[in-house]
Amino acid sequence: MAETPLILLLDAELYAPTPCGRCDLLIAGERIAWVGSAGGGAGAATAAKAGALPRELRDGLVKHLGVKVEELRGRRVIPGLIDGHTHLTGGGGEGGFKNRVPPMVLSKFTRAGITTVVGVLGTDDVTRDTAGLVAATRSLREQGLSAWCMTGGYHLPPRTLTGTVRGDLVHVDCIVGCGEVAISDHRSSQPTLDELLSLAADCHVGGLLAQKAGTLHLHLGDGKRGLALIEQAVAKSELPARTFHPTHLNRRKALFEEALALAARLRDEERRGVAGRAWHVDFTAFPVAPDEDAFTADVALRRWLDTGLPAERVTISSDSGGSLPEFDGEGCCVGMGVGDPASLPDCLAKLVAAGQPLERVLPAFTANAADLLRLPTKGYIEAGRDADLCVLDEQGRVTDVMARGMWHVRDGRARVLGTFERTEA
Ligand SMILES: [Zn+2]
Repeated sequence: MAETPLILLLDAELYAPTPCGRCDLLIAGERIAWVGSAGGGAGAATAAKAGALPRELRDGLVKHLGVKVEELRGRRVIPGLIDGHTHLTGGGGEGGFKNRVPPMVLSKFTRAGITTVVGVLGTDDVTRDTAGLVAATRSLREQGLSAWCMTGGYHLPPRTLTGTVRGDLVHVDCIVGCGEVAISDHRSSQPTLDELLSLAADCHVGGLLAQKAGTLHLHLGDGKRGLALIEQAVAKSELPARTFHPTHLNRRKALFEEALALAARLRDEERRGVAGRAWHVDFTAFPVAPDEDAFTADVALRRWLDTGLPAERVTISSDSGGSLPEFDGEGCCVGMGVGDPASLPDCLAKLVAAGQPLERVLPAFTANAADLLRLPTKGYIEAGRDADLCVLDEQGRVTDVMARGMWHVRDGRARVLGTFERTEA
């Protein structure tokens, strides 16, 4: 619960993620109650904001309703970041039990400006299960974050809670899709086209019944088959392309080029009137060594946008909590790293530092994921949505973070810590 239920933020340079100019925002509990022009009437009302709040009304709110007023002095305010792929229970496990990554803690996300997460299992869907992931998701919700998760893991048949993917989608509130199911990877179940179609159909129908995203979130490995299964699945079935949502597409340069080509082809079919061709892709903000055959997520996003592919159909996620194993040619694990939520804001800051307009790149970190995952209160700063905000400094780095109406981070310091972080602090 917020320390005071009403907060008036004055004079923010608002990116909602569309640029709205100087704005005042009224936060009421966990929601954004009102967005209007700043400065007592300087800006005009638009679709995204109302006119200015008259001075006497503002004074009245403070005097009679106890509204807390905070001056932002023109600093940029953006929606809280959405991380659509994070291993909340900890991922990993390749290379032995010692490589099982510990669960993610609250402030790892909030310090990174991430206010919404979607948890996934991963390679280890044996010692980790959907019940544990749902519990981790609910735990983060209780700690003030917004959290959802996927049922299933890398393998088929998928690990579920109720026995079917459809059932999980329909019966479990926080489950919005299935994944990450691995394809083109030596760690996958080597699924056939028919198996993949059957699973995607479950996702689609479960999503329809429960009014959820119902996406099949697909982990792409380094395998030479690349996107072939997805391409065939879209071509041969009645399922909409958005059901097949691939991630890690920037992990190999050839895979990335294949993704651009497929996206362009589907876009062209869509333009010709073929139904269900709207395809969404996800890039991973993992570290890339200079000599590595991969693109960083910022480079991948710029290429996607520069190529003229749909700007609203690309997202970036952190893969945090997941292990970053290195394998030799025999499939033996020879090294291990861990994905970090900070890779997401670092990627955003890198894009801004390279001169990219904030409004051009921001949707990939905010609104696009909310739209794809059908999270109607997320991704945008407007009246009625959840009060999830980040304040940026001059360099585009996150300094202050509000999640569901509560300031979790001020001046770069976490002032709300997770349940078991307190004992370590
Ligand atoms: Zn993965």
